[in-house]
Parts: sequence; structure tokens; C-alpha cells
Amino acid sequence: MSDLLHHRGRSLSKGQPVSLPIMASTTFHLPGDPDGSHFYGRNGNPTVECVEAEIGLLEAAETVLFPSGMAAIAAVFHTLLRPGDKVLVHADGYYNVRSLLEEHFVPRGIEVETCPTAGMDQADMSGCRLVMIETPSNPGLDVCDIAAVADRAKSAGAFLVADNTTATPLCQQPLDFGADMVVMSDTKAMAGHSDVLCGHVSSRHTALINQVRTYRRLGGAIVSPFDAYLLHRGLETLELRVSRANQSALQVAKCLSGHPAVSAVRYPGLPQDASHDIALRQMRGFGPIVSFTLKDREAAENFISNNELIVPATSFGGVHTSAECRIRWGDQVADGFVRLACGIEPTEDLVISVENALRDLRPV
Ligand code: PLP
Repeated sequence: MSDLLHHRGRSLSKGQPVSLPIMASTTFHLPGDPDGSHFYGRNGNPTVECVEAEIGLLEAAETVLFPSGMAAIAAVFHTLLRPGDKVLVHADGYYNVRSLLEEHFVPRGIEVETCPTAGMDQADMSGCRLVMIETPSNPGLDVCDIAAVADRAKSAGAFLVADNTTATPLCQQPLDFGADMVVMSDTKAMAGHSDVLCGHVSSRHTALINQVRTYRRLGGAIVSPFDAYLLHRGLETLELRVSRANQSALQVAKCLSGHPAVSAVRYPGLPQDASHDIALRQMRGFGPIVSFTLKDREAAENFISNNELIVPATSFGGVHTSAECRIRWGDQVADGFVRLACGIEPTEDLVISVENALRDLRPV
């Protein structure tokens, strides 16, 4: 994080602005022949490149920014997949990834198989060109052993792509465990204020990341310098926000577990969680999301609306704690399943607010 915070300052000369300027120009002064300097916004923009370099420091990898997490994921699929290829994708991670494959890649002759996150390290990957994991998975918070999955993918000759959105590179670095590419929705904790959509792809394979960059230039999914600036601003406080949200999530998970109104709690940081042992091996923090199950949908909606520190909203990684019933999006979860995403409110206040909202609920 220190490198990220001082990245820009180290190259400044006298009189240059300390804060990152937003370079809103689409064209750049270009007399004579192109010489590698900036010339057109789709090919490169100084504000965007500065933010790519910052995220590159966190990932220890070359990074390409996109205007959303899904744009980043789509770019990877477009770059790697050709008719006749096979993809193995998580069955329980972010649902739009599977929808994208089913609606746009299956009709183009790509075969798609799914596997639950917890079983990925045992999955049959034979014939796969690409394996995609999301760990911890959203919203169920299962975890897979990234190193074991990477070994298996490598033996099968497949590229391993890891969606690291729920963890962030501060808590987990899939590339260190053998993943070939990381994708993230930076809309969540990385930007962190629920006011900008963005995403990125990182890889330590130069040829792969160059292909992704070329795809972006040709496909045109370019993040605006204004949005890149907002992401930069969020990144500067990433560590403080992630650390508070993680701490709150653990305390909230503890408060929920064993409560008579709660039938199940998932949080990889809880010692009794099914994912805890693997999580300990590959994570430095366990993320802002706690998932739990109440008696039914009515109890879940009451819990959310009776909790004065919870915003009823989708998404996660913002400054305000939010929660929602995931059944409303068709996730394969119980009616009373709640995904709660901690914000940066003082932990004690949030725990009291959760305790109060639980008090009115009948036991399961
Ligand atoms: N990956 C995960 C794990 C997500 O939760 C999301 C969005 O919720 C995405 C990818 C897509 O990101 P975006 O909404 O920025 O396109």
C-alpha cells in the first residue's frame, strides 16, 4: 500500500500537481509520425495508466482497466475462447458470469460446464481451455484451494482465471498461487464508495495481458479518466476500509452464529466455518461479506428493514453496510438467505445494530 500511495509522488518534478490530474482529452498533440506517445484516448490515457500502475503494484502484475467488472470478464472470454473450446466455471459465483457464457459464448460453439466452488480442486478439467473460479464465492462464501486448482488446470492445459472481487488483492493474491489471470469488479471495495463502475484484469504473462489490452483497444471498452480518478481516490484508502470492514464482518458473523433466529452462517474467518482451513492458507483477511439464513423471506426482510445501519441495496465493498435477500436474483439459496456486506461504520455500532434487529425475530 505504501508503494501505491507514493507511486505518483516519486516521479513528480517541481510544480507538478500532487493529486492525480484528470486528463479529459481524447486527442493528444501529434505532429509528424506516431512515436509511442499518447495520441488517442482509446489507445491510452495518462490518468487511466496511472491507476493501472497503482493496481499493478497491488497485484504485482500488469493490469488493464475496464469500465466494469463484467467488461473485464468479457474481455478475458473474448481474448481466450474460440469455437470448440471448453470452459469450466463456478456454479455458485456471480450469476452474470454464467449468463454471459450461456447467452453469448455457447451459441458461438463454446462448451460450458459448471462446478461448485468447494469442489473445484477435484473437478474434471480435461479438454478445458479456461477454468474460472471465484473464491470466496459470492454469495455463498465457499472457498477453493487456489494452488490445488491451479495445478489441476495446468495439468489439463487450461488457463486459470480467478475472480478476486470478494477478497481484494490485500487479502488474497491468486496469481501467487498459480492463477494465470485475475479479474475483479473494482466497483466494489477497490473504488469503495458505490459511485463508480469499473474493473480490471491482471496477469504476469506478458503475452496474455497484451492480448487483453489489444482486445480492449479494438472492442472499445475504455474506462473514462473521470471514473479512473474516482477509482484512484478509493484505492488510496483501500487498506483502511478493508481492514475495518473485515473486522466488522468477523464480529457480525460471531454475533449471528449460535443465535436462535439464525439457522446457518457463512464467513471464512469463523474458525468453525467449512472454508476456514483453506482460507487461512491463502487469505490474509476474510472480506466484508457475511451470509446467513433466517427462518424465511419475511424474517430476512424484517431483519434488513429493522436494522438502522443497513442500507437495503445490492452490491458490496462500499462505505455503508448493505444487505439483501439473494433469492430475489434467483441465486440457489434459501428464502431466508441474507447477504450482508459490512461498510466502514464503527464495528461496535454495527454489532449493536445487528443484535437489535435479531432481537425481534422468532427462533428458527
Ligand atoms: N464478480 C463478482 C464477484 C461480482 O460480485 C460482480 C458484481 O456484483 C461482478 C464480478 C461484476 O462486476 P460489475 O458489476 O462491476 O460489472
